[in-house]
Amino acid sequence: MPETRATPRPTRCLIIGSGPAGYTAAVYAARALLEPVLIQGIQPGGQLTITTEVENWPGIIETQGPDLMVQMEAHAKAVGTQVIADHVISLDLSRRPFKATCDSGAVWHADAVILATGAQARWLGLPSEEKYKGFGVSACATCDGFFFRGKEVIVIGGGNTAVEEAIYLTNLATKVTLVHRRDALRADKILQQRLFNNPKVEIVWDHLPDEILGTPADGVTGVRLKHAKTGEPREIAASGVFIAIGHTPASELVKDQLETHMGGYVVTGGISGGISGGFSTATSVPGVFAAGDVTDHVYRQAVTSAGMGCMAALEAEKFLTEQADAAARAAE
Ligand code: FAD
Ligand code: NAP
Repeated sequence: MPETRATPRPTRCLIIGSGPAGYTAAVYAARALLEPVLIQGIQPGGQLTITTEVENWPGIIETQGPDLMVQMEAHAKAVGTQVIADHVISLDLSRRPFKATCDSGAVWHADAVILATGAQARWLGLPSEEKYKGFGVSACATCDGFFFRGKEVIVIGGGNTAVEEAIYLTNLATKVTLVHRRDALRADKILQQRLFNNPKVEIVWDHLPDEILGTPADGVTGVRLKHAKTGEPREIAASGVFIAIGHTPASELVKDQLETHMGGYVVTGGISGGISGGFSTATSVPGVFAAGDVTDHVYRQAVTSAGMGCMAALEAEKFLTEQADAAARAAE
């Protein structure tokens, strides 16, 4: 029969995702001679491709997020990973080999899967936010900040992303107002210091967005806030609103197939391949491992994601070796 796109392509180790977790898993899996296949997804390089400076990747005092990810991709390829520009649209984990169907129509059959699909920006859920997405409402300052040169903008949130986005936007906007629902930020202290020292920044504490204001002709014109305790309304004028209120795990692919908790984070830590639980990346399905932001609701850093990617590859190798040994014994 002639081969078509849908002809299953076998691989021992399929890595889904091309952030720090996926590329690190790829480096380790390739060096373990598993000949891994890595599917990049619609955001090749992952979340770090939408930021600028990265100052906490050990060994590099400062680099740009996109540059770091280009290097990780090159590293994964150099050691033998097949990196595929495609997106997994469905994943069947009900039996081995596991089956991944991609947007292009390609179907992969994998003996082991490393899920490294990361996380996606969270939205407020206001109807007006939806209405003005792309017309002044954004979740990515490095992508869209340019459109707000010489204008005033608002950033919503109090974590590292919000503070970094606010600082970045001061390079473009005339004024940046950071709105946070509490009276203290959760961002790293060094970032807070930079924010507080920036003369273009104003912080509005204890307020929540109630409605994004705008007109069809002008797009966003401001935000109506309400006080977190008293509910008292207040309006701030701005041409752009950047939502930076955290991320949710990208675990839709494995919904109802893998155990998840805390709003979709894949549960790991089972016993796998002789490596003891607790520190394991094994999921509730043997042969499926999860690494990075898709499983981590605590640290959510590039370096911890990379560390988990390494663990997942080592555990996948051990799992596959045990499977091969068991098959050999059964054949005797
Ligand atoms: P991600 O980087 O989220 O990558 C997920 C990958 O999965 C993507 O390649 C995506 O295309 C792919 N994918 C998703 N679904 C599918 C699918 N169905 N099929 C195929 N592929 C799929 N951390 C730091 O340590 N230092 C920083 O300075 C820093 N700055 C940040 C700045 C910003 C603006 C943001 C948003 C985050 C920042 N972080 C930083 C956090 C860091 O980026 C994440 O912790 C890290 O990227 C998580 O890595 P990951 O590999 O788990 O997933
Ligand atoms: P985060 O740390 O979860 O912070 C989200 C912020 O949004 C919090 O301040 C939270 O308020 C606020 N928030 C949440 N829901 C809200 C809502 N509905 N309305 C208003 N405010 C809301 O998320 P993040 O900043 O995106 O960071 C994600 C991870 O990536 C973190 O682990 C972070 O350290 C990492 N990261 C690291 C760097 C770096 O190292 N330089 C940069 C960016 C991101 P509360 O504080 O009240 O909960």
